[in-house]
Amino acid sequence: MDLWTVCEKGHVHWGRLGGAGLLFRYSPEQGEPSYLLQQRSKSKDYAGRWGIPGGAIREGETPEAAAKREAKEEVGPLPPYRVTGVQVQDCGGNWQFHIVMAEVDRPFPSYCVQETDATGWFTREDMGRLLLHPGLQRWLDEQESERS
Ligand SMILES: [Zn+2]
Repeated sequence: MDLWTVCEKGHVHWGRLGGAGLLFRYSPEQGEPSYLLQQRSKSKDYAGRWGIPGGAIREGETPEAAAKREAKEEVGPLPPYRVTGVQVQDCGGNWQFHIVMAEVDRPFPSYCVQETDATGWFTREDMGRLLLHPGLQRWLDEQESERS
């Protein structure tokens, strides 16, 4: 069962066993890679902000499986993809969110099935102009600091 939980730092998080989401990336032969983002609906925390499809990890589920299940529930059918890595973000209170990096051959159409108000493909530069979920903002900031 998915539940709200309180971590060691006293934050309230969705998912007793942590959370996971899929960050789809399309890398064209020329130009900047773009990423599939989801605008979060009112039924999620940080409503209105842009993040990645995802949610709570369930009992017996790997982070990758949870991310895939949640992404399908939220933005519709997924094409084949290659997992290129998993980045674990800890809030500092022993609660983890797993960002599963997934490479696709082309941008694919996505839909607002659940908990999603809009979807779109954005470069990192585009993302800098969006109001992001704090976890995605943290990922973006880390990317930018690695580059400089
Ligand atoms: Zn926390």
